[in-house]
Amino acid sequence: MQINIPGDVLEIICRLEDKGFEAHVVGGCVRDTLLGDTPEDWDVTTSALPEDVKSIFDHTADTGIKHGTVTVVSQNTTCEVTTYRLDGEYRDGRHPEEVSFTRSLEEDLKRRDFTINAMAYSPKRGLTDLFGGRADLEKKVIRAVGDPEKRFGEDALRMMRAVRFSARLGFDIEDDTKDAIAKLSSNLGLVSNERIREELMKLLTSPNPGKLRDLYGLGLTGVFLPEFDVMMETPQNTPHHIYTVGEHTVRAVENIRPDPILRLTMLLHDVSKPKCRTTDASGRDHFKGHPVEGEKDSKNILRRLKFDNHTIKKVSRLVRFHDANPKAKKTSVRRLVAEAGRECYPWLFEIKKADISAQSMYHRKEKLSLLEVYEKYYHEIINDKDPLETGDLAISGRDLKQMGIKEGKMIGMILNDLLEMAIEDPSVNDGKKLRQIVKEEYL
Ligand code: ATP
Ligand code: MG
Repeated sequence: MQINIPGDVLEIICRLEDKGFEAHVVGGCVRDTLLGDTPEDWDVTTSALPEDVKSIFDHTADTGIKHGTVTVVSQNTTCEVTTYRLDGEYRDGRHPEEVSFTRSLEEDLKRRDFTINAMAYSPKRGLTDLFGGRADLEKKVIRAVGDPEKRFGEDALRMMRAVRFSARLGFDIEDDTKDAIAKLSSNLGLVSNERIREELMKLLTSPNPGKLRDLYGLGLTGVFLPEFDVMMETPQNTPHHIYTVGEHTVRAVENIRPDPILRLTMLLHDVSKPKCRTTDASGRDHFKGHPVEGEKDSKNILRRLKFDNHTIKKVSRLVRFHDANPKAKKTSVRRLVAEAGRECYPWLFEIKKADISAQSMYHRKEKLSLLEVYEKYYHEIINDKDPLETGDLAISGRDLKQMGIKEGKMIGMILNDLLEMAIEDPSVNDGKKLRQIVKEEYL
């Protein structure tokens, strides 16, 4: 078996070997190559100590020196070179008390999470596969290296990683590994929300985001996203739906392309349905107000999970407008575009399509054709440069000042009134006409 290692990485390995050290590519890149995929990055593991690595290569950066990682900068790429490592005792369920370096590749591979991630390869020694990683790749299973309970007890994030690798690769989690997760899931609470968020996003943007069901079934969402568990347990007795809020949500996530903002929006679009649910005398459920509540709740959830401000703002806004269904009139659509924002609005076409396709067949055709009308009007509104914000008006605050309106508050109010009129009828947006209106109504 031979792996084609990129030239720059191969050179790093050869230089280390020439100096009498062992060096292998390891982990994700070996796994991905064996699967026939092109790895995103190549990691090297070596018996050389960090100081050795630094003295052998001209350009290096101490990116993770505490853990033995030195980044070697070569002509076309950067490559992380990490010294064979032993993890010390884990007392806090997240990281080892200390790490120490070892001369044994086996020790280094033993500390890795899953058999498929614990293989190394060097041109000189071929594949080192001590835990049956290759066989597990063929069987398509995620299996912990060693005793799963012990390994998840060391670092609880590995439980989240098991599900995200199963989502990324479309693999099953091996039974003992799965049982250990179910048993220890509450330990995930020991891990920082930043680390959880990273794994969640990898799962969510993978080809199998439906593995969210496993996160729930194994008790992991219960730890970092209990709102999702409530969704999974909330029925929707309405002709529009055939699934629980949670199952509808998972299907909506599956229906949309793997963009982080879109997948997160689908995950959270109905997050406030459970608390907005009322059941009428005929037994039918209603979820009045869930988009507005959803905007607030998704903001809080995303903040809790340490998302960046851009993501929080965009996703919560999309949640707020996901269920807006204006009349099939251009003015109504224009008003909504103005409210949601001209950049934000077109995202809603994909979101609504994904949402509708995860509902029952009830009125589906009508819902989808209404969406086409929105889309058509949106393009006309943008092409015709219809006014959508006060900055688009053919009159400015400065003009109003010159006309004798001095107070800033008043100017703002008048501009808003004029915008309202222009949204209703864009032909009003003409300098002369607007001045006339101001003279008649406000002076
Ligand atoms: P990806 O392509 O998603 O980056 P990867 O396998 O490279 O996949 P990383 O998170 O970059 O995943 O980790 C690199 C390697 O380090 C893994 O393949 C695994 O061997 C090891 N590893 C990473 N995180 C852990 C962990 N929490 N516990 C044990 N080993 C880990
Ligand atoms: Mg990686």
